[in-house]
Amino acid sequence: MTTLLLAGGLIDCTGNPRLAGAGIAVDGEYITDVGPADEVRSRPRGACTTINLEGATLLPGLWDCHVHLGSLVPPWDSRAASETEADYAYRCVRKAQDNLFAGITSLRTAGDRFDADLRLKKAIDNGTLMGPRLLVSGDSSWSRGAAGEDEYRRRARALLWKGADHIKLFASGAIAAPVAESITHTICTSAELRAAIQEAHRWGRHACVHAIGDEAVCMAAEAGADSVEHGFVLGQAGIDAMVRHQVVYSPQLTVTAAWNEKFMRTAGVFPDWLIDNAVEAGRVHHAAFKQATAAGLTFVTGVDNLPRPEFTAGIETFAGKPALLAEIGFMAANGLSPMQALQAATRNAAQLNRVGTRLGTLEAGKLADIIAVGGDPLQDLSVLADVRLVMKSGTHVRTSGANA
Ligand SMILES: [Zn+2]
Repeated sequence: MTTLLLAGGLIDCTGNPRLAGAGIAVDGEYITDVGPADEVRSRPRGACTTINLEGATLLPGLWDCHVHLGSLVPPWDSRAASETEADYAYRCVRKAQDNLFAGITSLRTAGDRFDADLRLKKAIDNGTLMGPRLLVSGDSSWSRGAAGEDEYRRRARALLWKGADHIKLFASGAIAAPVAESITHTICTSAELRAAIQEAHRWGRHACVHAIGDEAVCMAAEAGADSVEHGFVLGQAGIDAMVRHQVVYSPQLTVTAAWNEKFMRTAGVFPDWLIDNAVEAGRVHHAAFKQATAAGLTFVTGVDNLPRPEFTAGIETFAGKPALLAEIGFMAANGLSPMQALQAATRNAAQLNRVGTRLGTLEAGKLADIIAVGGDPLQDLSVLADVRLVMKSGTHVRTSGANA
């Protein structure tokens, strides 16, 4: 059975301009036809279900490249002490499913306790649970206390053997770590990073490195990192190193917008050291990102954990909407075109995750991870919050406001 999706427009995210009046044919898990609605409709095929999405634009499913499904940030992390693995797992399922319903069909995880992301991926892939496509790191916290190339190599090998899709490494301090005078201080050597990264590459997998300041960013780039996460205190030296080594930048601009001093002080639940760290992270981040766009880097969208004034579960939000949409918006407000920002959330993300031949764009032969949003996001990115249809691997996840 073929499903025909007909819509007011289509952005395939390959670099083509928006196509008005478009159609997609989906057979099984795959896209088999994409093009002008008249052409797609008129080509001969067997039994068909048609879904009309008038006024909507079809897009590839969105990607969040920096997700912690269950981990908590201060002040709620103290609850972890009394939490069981089951409590943790339920939170992971909730957040994963929230993302899928919001049109974020693929998540790259960046570290979860109990390898919960790894286990959830298996449960989704074997049909036990509904959920988004997960590309998982497993528990990455080991790299905050490891020492020596052998240990980095051993830990990476063990995770890859268990099914990790990539290796996540920490090269510096962090906003949520009450550590040093500055969040930019480095916590490992380039040789240690290289040992783990080489193991990932040996498996045909990639490695992403949490790096806040230039010293850590340069170290990660020189060690062969595929993406740098955060770069909150990025300068020209770090940008140059990323250009030289063709590193993808995953900036989390929404983190430094959300973790802002006024909001945190008003909320009254965040410790002072956390506010100090957030202030340091936010000072130059968005300007540095703009500088990085001028240097021609490749970008991907990732959200990470945002501050929660109350203990809640579910998708990260910013201004009441899924935070990934804010991330796309901040990219477009700081040097990228709306089209480039959408590609950061689709094609670039799939390529970074080494699944670019199967995902990330709307083309015949690719897996049918498709969303429809109510309007033209190139005119107004906020329409990304108006999700009319979500499809993952050709399976219809949800529809609203469509005529089936
Ligand atoms: Zn993170």
